[in-house]
Order: sequence, then C-alpha cells, then structure tokens
Amino acid sequence: MGINVLRKFKPITMFYLNLSLVISLVVVAIYLGIYMRNNRLLVESVHQQAVSSFDLIVKMRRWNVDYDGIYVERKPGMDSSPYLREVGIEPDIKTVDGRVFTLRNHAIMTSEISKILREYNGIQFRITSRQLLNKDNAPDSFEKTALTKFDQGAKEFWAIEKGKNGQYFRYMAPLMMEHSCQKCHSAFGYKEGEVRGGISVSIPFDHIASEISLNRRVIIGLSLLTLVLLLGSSYLMLNQLIGKLDIAQRALHEASQSDELTGLRNRRFLMSRFTEEYERARRYGTALGFLIMDLDHFKRVNDTHGHPFGDLVLKNVGGTILGAMREYDIAARYGGEEFAVLVPETKRHDLVALAERIREQIEAQAISDGEVTIKVTVSIGVTSLNENDTPETLIKRADDALYKAKHEGRNRTVLF
Ligand code: GH3
Ligand code: MG
Ligand code: MG
Repeated sequence: MGINVLRKFKPITMFYLNLSLVISLVVVAIYLGIYMRNNRLLVESVHQQAVSSFDLIVKMRRWNVDYDGIYVERKPGMDSSPYLREVGIEPDIKTVDGRVFTLRNHAIMTSEISKILREYNGIQFRITSRQLLNKDNAPDSFEKTALTKFDQGAKEFWAIEKGKNGQYFRYMAPLMMEHSCQKCHSAFGYKEGEVRGGISVSIPFDHIASEISLNRRVIIGLSLLTLVLLLGSSYLMLNQLIGKLDIAQRALHEASQSDELTGLRNRRFLMSRFTEEYERARRYGTALGFLIMDLDHFKRVNDTHGHPFGDLVLKNVGGTILGAMREYDIAARYGGEEFAVLVPETKRHDLVALAERIREQIEAQAISDGEVTIKVTVSIGVTSLNENDTPETLIKRADDALYKAKHEGRNRTVLF
C-alpha cells in the first residue's frame, strides 16, 4: 500500500522528502559536530603533551644554566663538547686524584635527554635557531616557518607532518634571549627579550591518526544507522497516518455521496450520474429511463406515529427500492420522502415493470417498530429520454407523471 498511498497524497510525499532532508541535515550536523570535537580533543591531548614536554625541557635547561652547567665524570667513550671550546670555554677539569670531569651545559644536556627520549618513546626534541653554534641544529622547513611566525609574535606553532617513520605532531615554541644566555649567545647580536631560537618537539602521531580514522568510521556507521532508523520510522509512521487518512477520505467521499437515513445515494450523486448517463445515451443512442416516486399521505404517518416512526418508514422503503432494482440502476433519495431511480439502457415497457415491481413490494411490506405496524404506498412517475429532451425536460416529464399518479388516486404508476 505504502508507495501507492504516498503517490496519492503528493503533498505528503513532499512533506516526507522535506522531513527527510531536515532529519538528514540535523543528523549529519550532530555527528559532524561530535566527530570534529572528538578529533579536536585527541589533537589537543597531543598538543598538551607537547606543551608540557617543552615546559619541562625549558625548566631542566634553566636548572642547568643556574649552575652554569654541570660537571660529569668523563668515562671511557665519552666526548668533551667541542662547541664549548669554540666559544672559549674549556669543558674539562682534572681533580687532584687524576679523574677528569667534563662540562655538560644546557644545550648538550638537552640533546642527550632528547636522545634517550627518542629511544624510549619516539619523542624528539630539537633546539634550533637561525644563527647556530652547532650546525646539526639547523632549522628544517617546519622550524623555519615556526621561527618566522615567532618573529611575527606567535607564542607557539604546530603542525602534523609526515616523516620517515610515520606521522608526527610537531610543536615548537620560542626560546627568548634571557640574561643568562648572554654569555654564549650575545655574540650573535641578540638583545634580551628577543627570540633567539626555539625548541621543537615531535610526538609520534600514527596512533592518534588511526584513532581519528576509527572515529570517522564509527561516526559514519552511527550516523547511517541513525538516519536509517529515523527515516525508516518516520516513513512507517507517515504511512500509517496516510493509511488512516485514506480510509477517512474514502469514508468522507462515500458520505458525501450517500443519504444518511436510508443508505441510498443522495440527490447530488444522482444528479452528477444523471448528466453522465444523459450524455452517454445521447452519444450512443441508447435508452435512459427515469422514475420519481413519492410516498402517499406521508404527512399522516408522521402525524399519527411520530417523526421517528416516519424515519423508520423511509429507511424501509429505501431498502425495498434497493432490493427491487438491478445492479446498474442508480437509486437515490431525491427529497424528503421522494425517491428517484435512474435506469440506463431500458425500454419503456421494462421501466413500467420495474416501477410496478417497486410499488407492489412497498405496498406489500409491513413496517413495524415492535409496537405499531403499518403499510404505505407510493405513487410513481415514469418517463424515458426522447429525441428533443434536455435533462431538465426529462425530469419535468417524470414529475408531471408523478403528479398525475397522485391526482388519479395514488398508489399507481404513470408513464409519460
Ligand atoms: P402526498 O400523498 O400528496 O405526497 O401527501 P404527503 O402527506 O406525503 O404530502 P407531502 O409529500 O407534501 O408531505 C411530505 C411530508 O414528508 C412532510 C414532511 O414532514 C415529511 N418528511 C419529509 N422528510 C422527512 C424525513 O426525513 N423524516 C420524516 N419522518 N418525515 C419527513
Ligand atoms: Mg412529497
Ligand atoms: Mg408524499
């Protein structure tokens, strides 16, 4: 039934399409919002990790700088820093007992910690600047971009980049020229408070990227499921509603064509069929008969037994007329206690036979409400379409025949 009914109610189909569109947009907007927020939180967690790593390394460097570097015992295989010598600092000292200690300043400490971290969990630190003590610390393209941003006032810079071993979350924040830096870095002309470089932190991002991709698949799946459920259930509900509307519409249509009291067709329906049958008979030259009947002395019935009993009589008479007719004749309640029958493709002789059959059956029928039992009669005017007829002249002639039947004493059929 569904599709057919939907087709029948075009405005409702449009309503369903609009509803589907709104539901789809809302569902997509909600899930897109959830997806983007989830991703932002994931990326933000890595960003926070990068920020705290940066802060920790800066604090550790400050600790080192506060002591002007830390001496560690030089074990076999350990190098002294060549860069310290380049800035005029001798890194090694010998104790009276002959042991050699070598200076680990903040830069060397950072690169050594970075090495440990890289091996331990893949996180990498790099100190970089445009003017270098150590050529290995030359900025790569991400770091160059970050340094430019810092010159323009940015406090941090981050991006997700593809590296040799997968994706990395790369973060960089500036290192400012502080008083304690002057000793080594003032040679490059930096003033206190200026950006003299930065520390970049690279955090492996593959696991987050795969979380994001899993997130995307879950969100797509959930949004499709939600859409199917919402669109499906709204379709079913709408269909149910349409089914009920259809039944109500049919009932209304039926009611608009019927007479409530007798269950026969009403005058409006009869007249519309009358026009159709009249035109058909004209076109094909077929016969068309018309009967009008009126209950005899019906006022008396009402006056004697009451209006409700009169109604019962009308109901019974209606049923008798219906029972006496052929299937393709159209009987209707024409007025208060008047009935009419439209009889297509029937000769005059047969029209009279039909009218008489109806009249005799009504006359023979005992009508009872359980207390009172009466019989009633009808007068019938009969006529058939002739060459010069219009619908109006045909009806008028049937009326005239009825009038004559009444005039001649009632309970009879007159053919005009
Ligand atoms: P006649 O033989 O000349 O037709 O006499 P009559 O008494 O039937 O006269 P008329 O046709 O003028 O009266 C019609 C009566 O039918 C008047 C009205 O009270 C009654 N009537 C019309 N419609 C209804 C109805 O729906 N229910 C009932 N109970 N009576 C109705
Ligand atoms: Mg009447
Ligand atoms: Mg009457």
